[in-house]
Amino acid sequence: MKLVRFGPPDTERPGIIDNNGQLRDAQSLVDDWHGATLTDECLAQVAAAAATLPLVTDNPHPRLGAPVGTISKFIVIGLNYAAHAAEAGLSPPTDPIIVLASPTAVCGGNDTICLPPNSHKTDWEIELGVVIGRGGRFIAATEALQHVAGYCIANDVSEREYQIERGTQWGKGKSYDTFKPLGPWLVTRDEIPDPQNLNMQLQRNGKICQQSNTQDMIFPVAELISRISEYMTLCAGDVLVTGTPPGVGYGMKPPQFLCAGDQLQLNIDGLGQQENTVAAHVTHK
Ligand code: ZN
Repeated sequence: MKLVRFGPPDTERPGIIDNNGQLRDAQSLVDDWHGATLTDECLAQVAAAAATLPLVTDNPHPRLGAPVGTISKFIVIGLNYAAHAAEAGLSPPTDPIIVLASPTAVCGGNDTICLPPNSHKTDWEIELGVVIGRGGRFIAATEALQHVAGYCIANDVSEREYQIERGTQWGKGKSYDTFKPLGPWLVTRDEIPDPQNLNMQLQRNGKICQQSNTQDMIFPVAELISRISEYMTLCAGDVLVTGTPPGVGYGMKPPQFLCAGDQLQLNIDGLGQQENTVAAHVTHK
């Protein structure tokens, strides 16, 4: 099942994309997609009733917001692909690098990415996004995927000057409004039996910059969930982005960064496609 939130920013309604690709309004069953409605039990109820939900006919292709409405924590994993660590000039980590970014940075998967004022080093990072459906602490890796509600495409947009040159607080560079496009939809975990074999590709202005597969992760999703839960309580509705493969602008020689007018296209097997325009800072979501 594909979960969406459709409509203008801040007034999105919960919906699903059915097996025929049609948008259905789920508001008769759930108030929104968030921690309380992303449980296995609730998703099973929605799936059972999916065919009875009303089709959205007035605007069958509306804007889609981020597929999770209230995000309790936004967790960013750093340097989880060895080849990306190498292009960043850093050693692969022996324990996952865990950074907290502000959930206010989240926007819809196809929303405009806005550059901060005077930003010169805003960069792209395609990543597998993971949404937690059942929280916990000290989760065993063997059980960890049962704690996942679903998966989505994420772009961990990062301002490298803020991230690296202003005191090395990575959260600074990863938290600006619109820096975390999620979606276009959340694909429930039953449709992604193996999150470690997904091709991923990011194009900038039609040119392939990043092309990899989630099998190249240093710490697979199950291991990440287990390790994170040793350090903090994971909650339903938390979002985890699992690291980016090589091909970011910062690693290019010479480095390249996003400019107003750029077009990005991100694809991950089974999770659909994101298309974003990059704009100067004046536009906000
Ligand atoms: Zn990242």
